Amino acid sequence: MPGSIRLFVTCPLEPGAESTFDRAQAHYLGRVMRRRVGEEVVLFNGRDGAWRARITALNATGGRAALAEQLTAQVAEPGPWLAFALLKRAASEIVVQKATELGAERLLPFRAERSVAGAPNPERLAAIATEAAEQSERLTRPAIARVLSLPALLAGWPPGRPLFAAIERRALPFPRDGKSAGLLVGPEGGFTEGELDLIAHTPFVRPVSLGPRILRAETAAIVGLALLAASAGHSI
Ligand code: SAH
Repeated sequence: MPGSIRLFVTCPLEPGAESTFDRAQAHYLGRVMRRRVGEEVVLFNGRDGAWRARITALNATGGRAALAEQLTAQVAEPGPWLAFALLKRAASEIVVQKATELGAERLLPFRAERSVAGAPNPERLAAIATEAAEQSERLTRPAIARVLSLPALLAGWPPGRPLFAAIERRALPFPRDGKSAGLLVGPEGGFTEGELDLIAHTPFVRPVSLGPRILRAETAAIVGLALLAASAGHSI
């Protein structure tokens, strides 16, 4: 159903089941998109594929839909992992939204030495990822890890997954095989000498360039994920 409204729900999706809409979804369906009882939407929950469903109730506080048929079976959606330094709130939110659109499987915010932002609101970041998953026709949402320091992030990183660290002002080629890799992007002020030293001494981390210009951190995340997808052989 190209162009359909797609909504993420948490309940199981199976023949004969009924799904519910929360207040925000009901507002979006009824007020923003002007949908009515009897009309159809597409639902997914990250586990049971995508389903066509008919709206059976809709008011200001919620609604319900009856499951009609499965449109797509669930498939795994492996993608790059993105470790990004916490930025100002709006910039961190852009990173979460764009990384979700670009297929990131896991988002790992970390507190860099030069991060200036306070702790992000996990519910807000999850809601942004959910909306981006809905609009980009994913069947899964990215997992969002809790905020760690850079040393803790690197200590917990699976060593078998290469991690490409975006470092500006160095002529470092972008690797050709970015399959099952990760991207590490620093804060607006860049990595400190100590962080660069840690990166240089971590065996699975490879410094990479994103080109000759100095990008804002959120641009670097987007460009890096696009280059990773291209190097993994995806057309984007
Ligand atoms: N304020 C710093 C730049 C930081 S850019 C300075 O002027 O030196 C923010 C982050 O984006 C960096 O930590 C790096 O991870 C990434 N980045 C920006 N431009 C890049 C480039 N050309 N190549 C690789 N990484 C880049």
